[in-house]
Amino acid sequence: MAYDFLVVGAGLYGSVFAREAASRGRSVLVIDRRPHIAGNVYTECVEGIHVHRYGAHVFHTNDLKVWEYVNRFAPFNRFTNSPVANYHGALYALPFNMYTFHRIWGVNTPAEAKAEIARQRQAAHIADHPRNLEEQAISLVGRDIYEMLIKGYTEKQWGRPCDQLPAFIIRRLPVRFTYDNNYYNALYQGVPIGGYTKLVENLLDGIETRLNVDYLADRKALRALAKTVVFTGSIDAYFDYCLGSLAFRSLRFETELLDTPNFQGIAVVNYTDRETPWTRIIEHKWFEFGKDRQGNDIGKTVISKEYSLEWDRNCEPYYPINDEQNDRLYMRYKELAQAEKNVIFGGRLGEYRYYDMDQVISAALAAADKVCR
Ligand code: UDP
Repeated sequence: MAYDFLVVGAGLYGSVFAREAASRGRSVLVIDRRPHIAGNVYTECVEGIHVHRYGAHVFHTNDLKVWEYVNRFAPFNRFTNSPVANYHGALYALPFNMYTFHRIWGVNTPAEAKAEIARQRQAAHIADHPRNLEEQAISLVGRDIYEMLIKGYTEKQWGRPCDQLPAFIIRRLPVRFTYDNNYYNALYQGVPIGGYTKLVENLLDGIETRLNVDYLADRKALRALAKTVVFTGSIDAYFDYCLGSLAFRSLRFETELLDTPNFQGIAVVNYTDRETPWTRIIEHKWFEFGKDRQGNDIGKTVISKEYSLEWDRNCEPYYPINDEQNDRLYMRYKELAQAEKNVIFGGRLGEYRYYDMDQVISAALAAADKVCR
């Protein structure tokens, strides 16, 4: 065998695992079926702007170890995500905080906001343990905000009614009774200066990487190259969908270079009404404050309209749909995975989990630690 590890997928999980294995003296080959590294955090430089080709990524974590780890491979800027919601042309602050409550109900104090939410929760007769996303949302922020800022966006994003979606999805968003538009509660937050591709390039520095190589299309020959395979593609694809397909949501982007310096004045605008066909518009330059590497203002801008769609085997999976049915199917695939000798399944697709970037990195560090011990 030529290598200790064959890492399938040069995204965050694969790159961190590869780095850790290599730094412990193991031989590693990384392959990816795409023509570029970095998986879905891939950024591409257009007119000095780092364009997030597979959707906006803002790094945030409470885990100091992970924060220090990523900062070893790229300096991070101080970007703080504070998107606004556009509902039928009117703008509201996100996440749900005192600015939002003031704008919608005219309340000024946390006590008034809490009282209004409690009143709406009671009127909706929500049980103590919300059974789905709709009940969870009304319980957290009341019916007005659910109707204006959650329902339409969520149903576009997931292609399912809110009462058929798991409650945990909406608990990703903070609800806070302070005047604070920071989308995350994490202690540490930012975007890698020079783009995520640079971060991954630095992780993979000195590690043999082959692009345009599809493991599943040539698995016999590739499997023979290494003692252990680290597979970061979809777990159901690995097993030829033998138990059926896991459901994912996919995305489509319409990206344009505009000859104007400022299109929407902020990195992310969510379109929360049902009628607007896209879920959000990203203006990429604002992740880096509209400046180029020399600190000069960039005269043009790049925007991406993001559309959510149901995944099929011809498109890229982005979001696992962790409802009960799919989680049950995943558990059956997991049993197959556990019986598979010397193969590690990792990342959003390999573990079928709605992971954030820091969780992916933490899982990859732990896996590398375990197998290289
Ligand atoms: N969400 C919403 N309105 C918004 C933003 C988010 O209802 O304006 C809900 C929606 O259900 C979404 C979930 O919150 O799927 C999680 O949002 P997040 O921003 O974490 O999604 P991601 O960045 O992973 O696409």
